[in-house]
Order: sequence, then C-alpha cells, then structure tokens
Amino acid sequence: MIKFETPMFRPPSEANSLLVQATIGCSHNNCTYCAMYRGENQRFRVRPQDEIFQIIDELSSSKYKRAFVADGNALVMRTKNLCDIFKEIYKKNSNMQRISLYGNVSDILRKKKEDLDMLKESGLDLVYIGFESGDDKTLKRIKKGATKEETVEAMQKLKKSGIKVSGMVLLGVGGKERSFEHAYQTADMLSKGDPEYVGLLSLQVRPGAPLYKDWEDGIFELPDKYQLLKELEIIAENTELSGGYFYSNHISNYLPIKAIFPKDKDEVVSKIKEALKDKSGKQLRPEYYRDIVNQY
Ligand code: SF4
Repeated sequence: MIKFETPMFRPPSEANSLLVQATIGCSHNNCTYCAMYRGENQRFRVRPQDEIFQIIDELSSSKYKRAFVADGNALVMRTKNLCDIFKEIYKKNSNMQRISLYGNVSDILRKKKEDLDMLKESGLDLVYIGFESGDDKTLKRIKKGATKEETVEAMQKLKKSGIKVSGMVLLGVGGKERSFEHAYQTADMLSKGDPEYVGLLSLQVRPGAPLYKDWEDGIFELPDKYQLLKELEIIAENTELSGGYFYSNHISNYLPIKAIFPKDKDEVVSKIKEALKDKSGKQLRPEYYRDIVNQY
C-alpha cells in the first residue's frame, strides 16, 4: 500500500473525493502567508507514474463521484502524464463525474491551448486557483508569483477549454495598509475573469509562514474583524459574475455567505452592511470557532 506524505491538503469541497497524491508539496512554495508545505518531507516532487497508478488501483471504488489530484499545483505535471492519470481514474471508478486539482497561474499560462483541451478531454473539470488578491502591490509583497492581469488571463484560458475555475480570495492579505486597494482590485479581477466559483477565506497568520515574523515585528498589520467585513462588502458590491457561486462559508470567516451572483447579490450586500452596523458582533462567528481551523 502506497503511503501518503502528510499533511496533505485539499479544498473543503473535496472532503468526500477520491484523493490521489500525484505530487508532494508545492512547486511554488514561496507565498509569504503560507505554512502548508514547510516540512522537510514535503520538498516538492512528482511521484513516479507507476506509484500514482498504484494509488488509483488501491483506492478506487464505485462510491466515488469526484476525485482530487493532490498536492500543491499538480497542474505543473506533464500534460500527457496528467491525461493518463485522469483516464485511469475514470476507468477504475464507474461513478466518477468530476476531477479537479490545484493549479497556479504560471502553470496554467505555460500550458498551450492544445494541452488544456487535452486535459479537458481526458476528464479534468475544475482547477482550484489561489488568487488571494487582485492588487498587484499585495501580490508582489506576498510573492504570489502572478499579477492581476496574468490571473485574469489564466481564468480566461481555462474557460476557453471548458475547464471550470474555482478561485480563492484571502481577506486581510493586503494588511491594514492595502485593505481597500486589495478589496477593490480583487472585485475587478473577479469581474474580468468571471470564475464559476469564488471562495473567500480570512487570513490567519500561522507560525512557520514568513509573514508571521513580519506580523510579530509589527511590519504587517492584520485588519480587524470589521475591516475584514468591509473588504467582504467591497468585494461583494463590486463583483459581477455571470451565475458564479460566491461563498464565504469557510470556517476562517466571521460572516458565512453562500450566494449565486447576480441572483443573490443585493441580499448578500444588505446582510454584510447590517453586520457592519451592528457593533455587538452577535452576527459574527466567535473567535474560538475560527481558531480551530487551518488555512485551507
Ligand atoms: S499558498 Fe498555495 S501556491 Fe502559495 S506556497 Fe502555499 S500551497 Fe504553494
């Protein structure tokens, strides 16, 4: 039995998916707020293809409808190898309906249109991308490795090949200093890229992440909960999606929202405004509840 290297990460929505650890660690591993893959055993590597096939063979079952090919940025792998993996997952799981993975912007832009078409044809349905912000200054500071324009281009490229996009946004990642720019530019980026899913999370500075030291030294100031709510309000108010899901139900957030834009937008914006006005905090998740989570 092939053993997974741990900790292994997957999006919350893939909790019941067949997990296939094709890569170990993250090929970028440079984002300043991220402590996910800092362990010695998590140095980035791609598993040999025969090991990946063995994992699929060992874990496949008719109970799975979804598969997630882990770990960080599995899209960095060769197109042909990924296609073979997707086909094998479909072959061995009779009820499989959807395959997804993490991809970063530079890996998406590096793939040719033909590569993305091949990945789609072989069964790739959805790519999770950590956008974090649409503010170029913030993106540079957090060493995300992509600009707002490149992020929009990556979304459009995937969509042209019929691959859906689920993007994560990190409230608070611009710090107090870039809070408003972060929110407005993020809304603009989302409107231009029009992803099918937007998941908003709130930054929690973790020991092990380079940003932690800046936070301890007072160089980076985390916005308070009302400023995070203000960011959420600005993003919700200024984001135009054509039927996309807009979710802030991740456990790290103070105000959980589940909406489809534009249908639920007015209602959601009113709900955020109301929570912002009510300084009692009764409408917000308590701090202890948020503390029990990891970032993703
Ligand atoms: S946030 Fe994502 S891309 Fe950045 S280092 Fe962490 S796992 Fe890698």
